[in-house]
Amino acid sequence: MAWGRSAEVRAKQCTCIFGDGEGSVKDFVSHPVCILWIVLCGLDLDGVLCDLGPPVAARIARRFGVATHPSAWTRYDLRLLDLGLPREPFHAFLDETFGDPVLYSEALPTDGAVFGVAALRAAGWRIVGITARPPHLADVTVDWLADHGMALDDVHHTALGTKAEVARQLGVRATVEDNPGEAELLADVCESWLLDRPYNRHDAVHRARRLQSWDDAVGRLCQLELFA
Ligand SMILES: [Mg+2]
Repeated sequence: MAWGRSAEVRAKQCTCIFGDGEGSVKDFVSHPVCILWIVLCGLDLDGVLCDLGPPVAARIARRFGVATHPSAWTRYDLRLLDLGLPREPFHAFLDETFGDPVLYSEALPTDGAVFGVAALRAAGWRIVGITARPPHLADVTVDWLADHGMALDDVHHTALGTKAEVARQLGVRATVEDNPGEAELLADVCESWLLDRPYNRHDAVHRARRLQSWDDAVGRLCQLELFA
């Protein structure tokens, strides 16, 4: 059933269900009875679960006195945005901003993400976060997920461009990303979905498929036949 997933990985995941001693019998029987093995979904954090646009826009306004709205950002890489700001100070600002743990604690979930995570779990998926956030953001990430009621089984921090390798090692079956380049790489190892955002609409994707919204994600990923 799994695209690109080896029998060995499936066997290890079955061990997680039946024999690792961490989950109680109650935990096991709480899953739908039709699930015969664990099915992993890998979710990106920023732009998929966590909406950094508004707090970044607020910081731009405070620092540069420029009002800009994330819905008007048409580039995934904010360095390429033309906001009429001096290049070097703006790039230094972006480095400082995205390295600041407070930014991530201020952000709210993206529309539909809380419901989406709950729906995926209810359908039987186990969910891992796969993020390019640097390791020093691990604590704020775990706290933020808990504060917003998103129950992920694990979060993997990795470098940009390496998520596909993490997904392959974990035996992830499907991923949801907002970075078109990363989504294309992930399509080599699993079912890869690109969540539609204003800043990725101008990028053509060929192997990944677009999701219009979290509702769309739930509709596509929670079909019963996935687990039959
Ligand atoms: Mg992202």
